[in-house]
Amino acid sequence: SFGGVGLVKHFAVIGDPIAHSLSPVMHNAGYKALNLAADYQKFQVSPEDLGEAVLGLKALGFSGWNVTVPHKETILPFLDELTEEAVRAGAVNTVKVDKGRLIGHNTDGSGFVRSLQEHMELDERQQIVILGAGGAAKGIAMALAPFQAQLCIMNRTPERGAELVGKVLEWGGQAHQEEWGRGAWLAQADCVIQTTSIGLKKEEYPFSLEGIRPGALVVDIIFNPWETPFLQEAKALGCKIVNGIDMLLYQGVNAWEFWLEDKAPVESMRKALYQALTG
Ligand code: NDP
Repeated sequence: SFGGVGLVKHFAVIGDPIAHSLSPVMHNAGYKALNLAADYQKFQVSPEDLGEAVLGLKALGFSGWNVTVPHKETILPFLDELTEEAVRAGAVNTVKVDKGRLIGHNTDGSGFVRSLQEHMELDERQQIVILGAGGAAKGIAMALAPFQAQLCIMNRTPERGAELVGKVLEWGGQAHQEEWGRGAWLAQADCVIQTTSIGLKKEEYPFSLEGIRPGALVVDIIFNPWETPFLQEAKALGCKIVNGIDMLLYQGVNAWEFWLEDKAPVESMRKALYQALTG
């Protein structure tokens, strides 16, 4: 227990839909591994009920909660304070209750960076192509910005790509946009990050990775299917491939560490997560 007084800490994730969320499995396995008196639940919260749900969680004594689609931006007005990561991302995926104050934080981008750093070094010499400019791409690009890597954004809708480039530059990062699917940039890339929802919808990817440097790191932030056709093509072209499961893992690890101000049991959480997915 916390403080040796039998106190139980409660955590949760709210979203709509929420049934598929693997966060409870991952966090509860972590509490068990460390013998902590804590629990983590999932709650389906409709957009129109968000404000009441936030007040309810606070009134019920929750210590913190994760926030997922579609509430990551709409929760902002209900919070008392934002961390720099949340301001930079313009979105919140983690809330901590601190002496009655609600602090909004974002671990999506930092979680992605932590997973990427297991596979490559990040500095100003790296050329990184980001495919997509939606919410996930924004979190990733804003977390990569401080490393000064050269970001090349490609998005089907160029206006949205330009907006993201503008945001990265505004925060002191390096970024430009290239036409969606333009091959020349892929050939120079040290790393390509696929953030669109194409693989999730089982649609065919609209362009080929041909010309990519063998040995380049190719990431698809989708993990279901475990290996998207995009990753399969990258593997066939001699690239190193990484799916999105560790992004999910490390956003959870970073949320844990923000809430509990202590190291999370990463391997226990990883094992539970992988097991839940692969049966
Ligand atoms: P958004 O709706 O915010 O963005 C979707 C992106 O996909 C946009 O860039 C959009 O381009 C692009 N896109 C969608 N369909 C097509 C298509 N047919 N052709 C070309 N581009 C397309 O979604 P999110 O950013 O929130 O999520 C994207 C994906 O990332 C989802 O599959 C989600 O499951 C996954 N994800 C994984 C996480 C993890 O932990 N591993 C965390 C968060 C998300 P346009 O601007 O032109 O519409």
